[in-house]
Amino acid sequence: MTPVIALVGRPNVGKSTLFNRLTRSRDALVANLSGLTRDRQYGEGKLGNRDYLVIDTGGISGNEEGIDAMMAGQSLQAIDEADAVLFLVDARAGLTPADEMIAKHLRINNKSAYLVVNKLDGLDADAALADFYQLGLANVEGIAAAHGRGVKTLINKVLDEFPKLEELVELSEEEKAEEQQTAEAEQKAQGIKIGIVGRPNVGKSTLVNRMLGEDRVVVFDHAGTTRDSIYIPFERQEQKYTLIDTAGVRRRGKVKEAVEKFSVVKTLQAISDANVVILVLDAKEGLVDQDLHLLSFILESGRAVVISLNKWDGMDADMKAQVKEELERRLGFINFARIHYISALHGSGVGNLYKSVEEAYQAAMSRWSTNQLTRLLEDAIVEHQPPLVRGNRIKLRYAHMGGSNPPIIVIHGNQTSEVPASYQRYLENTFRRELKIVGTPIRIEFKGSE
Ligand code: GDP
Ligand code: GDP
Repeated sequence: MTPVIALVGRPNVGKSTLFNRLTRSRDALVANLSGLTRDRQYGEGKLGNRDYLVIDTGGISGNEEGIDAMMAGQSLQAIDEADAVLFLVDARAGLTPADEMIAKHLRINNKSAYLVVNKLDGLDADAALADFYQLGLANVEGIAAAHGRGVKTLINKVLDEFPKLEELVELSEEEKAEEQQTAEAEQKAQGIKIGIVGRPNVGKSTLVNRMLGEDRVVVFDHAGTTRDSIYIPFERQEQKYTLIDTAGVRRRGKVKEAVEKFSVVKTLQAISDANVVILVLDAKEGLVDQDLHLLSFILESGRAVVISLNKWDGMDADMKAQVKEELERRLGFINFARIHYISALHGSGVGNLYKSVEEAYQAAMSRWSTNQLTRLLEDAIVEHQPPLVRGNRIKLRYAHMGGSNPPIIVIHGNQTSEVPASYQRYLENTFRRELKIVGTPIRIEFKGSE
């Protein structure tokens, strides 16, 4: 389970600065799932080999009204869905009434909350922290987000509360092998994990029901539920799967029905936790920004993906042709993903999804030998030499695998930091074509010896 960390605090205390530190990319990765989230930002981070999700809940204005509004709104949902809350304050500004109000809310909320005193650079830490102890929060940490000081220690502490502690410890080769075996056994038991994601009302619940209701599908007792996504193990034609149901179908008719069905956190977690994501789109509405944000998050996460354009029923031939043309054009940037035109309501096309899911999964989990990859690299270089840098040609020597789901191909050479984006794309396309990689993003990483 990927822990979710929410950042709260008044404006200007350094939330976005910390967010950028905590997430992988500087240009704030992900999804501003506009309309659903107002101005919240979501990002993924990693410490060692532990993943986490970060939500920047956006500035809380500081006056009572603003805080009340926040509590009622989406930001509160984010805090509620988070596993840990980092409450930022500004050491330079000192304690403010707005800070006190936010603290009061967090105390009532009974969350794992950290008071994070930011901008400690150039200040006497003890004196700066002293002011804030009266907020009555047990965990107080000092950082300088802009300089990265204290940030790792902080995240280590936060993540320590969650299982998987052992991963922080340096493992021996034997232990690593054992871990790998456990992971493989777990993966085997769960089969292919399929996340069903999409905006509200695109037909996720209908699709989940349809997939599980198919002939030859044997649904087992739920292995367990996590937060609100429901993990449904089943078997079809002797292949094991676990469906990650973000729409909470199985809960319908029970108490939860009235509760807001769609949740961004749930969706992002399902993506992180899946092997293959089925992104559901609505043919009647076409591709909208939120779909593209979700897609970009899927790609950033490196997940394999199958796109299903739902509600394909009830459209005449002209409309179908037009929608198809537009979709394929606009999704040109992810031309490795299969697109299915389906009707979850009537069931047409649903069974065919499995073939693409399996194909994407196989590709995402593939392993290629160093020999094979190096040979492909050499061929690619013969075809097109890497460019010269200051009179010296970039040398790429050999390639090997660095991981799977997504497949990572590590290329060693000289001046590798100078490899232009266009050449990286050329290599990526070549590997993809030659290795017949369909349905999953791949990553090319360079290691230099300069
Ligand atoms: P947000 O509104 O809470 O997201 O705050 P920002 O991340 O935009 O930061 C507000 C200002 O504080 C910016 O000018 C940052 O450069 C500055 N800032 C953030 N972190 C630090 C820090 O660790 N030390 C100092 N001195 N300034 C910081
Ligand atoms: P979710 O919010 O993504 O889980 O969407 P639902 O599964 O609840 O579906 C939203 C609405 O779209 C419901 O009224 C469904 O009956 C309808 N719907 C779902 N799939 C289809 C489809 O394939 N064709 C048509 N015409 N309507 C569909």
